[in-house]
Amino acid sequence: MFWADKIAKEIIQSGKYQPYRVDDMFTPSGFAHVGSLRGPLVHDLITKAIRDAGEKPLYTFVINDFDPIDGLPQELQEKFEQYLGFPLCNAPSPNGKLESFAEFFANDFKKVLTDLGMEAKFLSSWDMYHEGKFNEVIKEALDGTDKIKAIYKRVSGSKKGDENWYPFQVICPNCGKLGTTRVVGWDGKTVEYVCEPEMVTWAKGCGNTGRISPFDGNGKLLWKVDWPAHWKVLGITIEGAGKDHSTAGGSRDIAREICKEVTNYPEPYNLPYEFFLYGGKKMSSSKGLGLKARDLISVLPPNVGRFLFSKTDYREAIEFDPSGTLAISSLFDEYDRSWNAYVEGSDETLSRTFEFSQTGVLPPKEKTFISRFRDVVNYIQLPNIVLVDKFNELKGELLTSFEKEILEERERYARVWLKNYAPEEVSFQMAQTLPDVAKHLTDLQKNYLVRVAELIREENTADELQIKLYNLSKELELGAKEAFSAIYIAFTGRESGPKAAWFLLQYPKDVVVKRLMEAAESKEEVL
Ligand SMILES: [Zn+2]
Repeated sequence: MFWADKIAKEIIQSGKYQPYRVDDMFTPSGFAHVGSLRGPLVHDLITKAIRDAGEKPLYTFVINDFDPIDGLPQELQEKFEQYLGFPLCNAPSPNGKLESFAEFFANDFKKVLTDLGMEAKFLSSWDMYHEGKFNEVIKEALDGTDKIKAIYKRVSGSKKGDENWYPFQVICPNCGKLGTTRVVGWDGKTVEYVCEPEMVTWAKGCGNTGRISPFDGNGKLLWKVDWPAHWKVLGITIEGAGKDHSTAGGSRDIAREICKEVTNYPEPYNLPYEFFLYGGKKMSSSKGLGLKARDLISVLPPNVGRFLFSKTDYREAIEFDPSGTLAISSLFDEYDRSWNAYVEGSDETLSRTFEFSQTGVLPPKEKTFISRFRDVVNYIQLPNIVLVDKFNELKGELLTSFEKEILEERERYARVWLKNYAPEEVSFQMAQTLPDVAKHLTDLQKNYLVRVAELIREENTADELQIKLYNLSKELELGAKEAFSAIYIAFTGRESGPKAAWFLLQYPKDVVVKRLMEAAESKEEVL
C-alpha cells in the first residue's frame, strides 16, 4: 500500500483525530532550500490520502511572519543588519517591491509549493495574533508559566526554570525589536518587560522597560509554546515536523506536555519526517548547502518534482544531488515506471505514487508513448535531427498531441539539465558539423579514426571498446593522448573530453561512423 494511504488509514481507524485538520508552518527568514519542501508536501500528501478515503480534511499552512529576524542570508548581511531582532513582518522587503521581509520570502516559497500542487490555506501568524485569535492561549500560557518552566526543566533539562522568565516576548515600543525583549512580570492584564542589550548575541536591545498588554499582537509566544498554542487556536489534529524536533527532550516532547498541562488540548497526530540529504549531508539554508526550493521547479516539471517527495515514505531519508550526476535523468526513469504502472494497473503502490505526483488532472489510463528523458538528452545534442520526427520513428507511428506535449516539456527540461547539471560525459556535446580543426589531424590520426569506425561497427560494451581504442593506438604506434584527442577533435573540436568509449556509444552507430569517416577524409586546403 502507498505510504500516505497507510498513514491516512491509521489516522482514520484510530478515531482520534476528527475533524481532520492538518497543519504545517514555515518561517520566511530567507530563501527556503529544497529540503524545506518535504514538510509541506508530506502534509499535503497525507491530506489528499485522507480525502481519497472519503473524508473531508482541511490543510492550513502557517507563515511564521511574526518571528524575530535572528540571522540573515549572506547577501543581506550588511544591508539588513539594523533589522536583526525585528519581527519578520516589520522589516522591509529585500527587493523594495513588497510589503515586508516576510512577504518577500513567503511569496517565493508559496509559489514553489503551489507549482508543486500543494493545496493549503495560507495563514499569517502576525494576522492571527493581531486579530486577537491567540489572546486566550496567551493568557493560559502566562498564567501557566510555572508549569511551563517545570516542563522545560523536566523534559529538556533547560535552566529556564530558574530564571525570572515568561514564555512571551513583546515588540519593544521604543526600538521596535521583538527578539531582544524579556517578560519579567504578569499581573493578569499587562506584562512587565525589559528590552535587554545583552540577551542575544545577534541583536542589541535598547534598555527600555515598561508594562504593556500582551494581547492583540503586542507580542508573541516563544516558538516552543507558540507551536502547541496554535494547535488549539486552529483546532489542529494532524501536524508533524522534521524528526530533529521529535528527539527525546525536543520541542515535540515539550509541546505534548504543554498540551496536557497548560492548554488542555489533545496532541495532534505526529509525522516526524526524515531529512532531505544533498550529497549525503543534511541541507542547511544558513550554511548555503544545497539547492534552493525555487531552483527545483526550474530543473524539474512540477509532476516530477512532486514525485521526488511522494516516492519516499516520510520515515526514510531522501537523497538528491543533481549537480554533475545522473540523479535527474534517473528520477525521470523512475517517474516513467510509475506512469506505466498507473496505465497498466500493474503495481498498486507505484500507481498510487504516480497519482499523488500529479499537480493537475490525472492523465488518461491508456497506453502512452513517453519519450525517455535520456533519449531526449541524446537526440537534442545530435546534428541534423528533428526531434519529433525521431520520436515518431522510435514509436513506429505519429505521436499523439498529448505525447508531443510530453516530448516538448522534456526537451525544455533536458536543455536546462544539459546546461546546468549534467555530468561532463553527457553534456559534452557532439558538434552539429565536423569541426574545422579536424582538418589539421595528422595522417596517422586520420588512419586511427578509420580503424575506430571499424570498431564501432562491432558489438562492444563500453569497457571493451575503451580497451580496444587504447590497444589500437599502440598497434598504430600513435601515442594514446594523440589518439584520443583525434576522437574528441572530430566530435567536439576540443582536444580532451570524457571517457571516449562511453561518449561514442551514447550516439547511434551510423552517426558516429559517418563523423569518423568525414574527419578521416577531411583535407587541409592548400593555397
Ligand atoms: Zn527596545
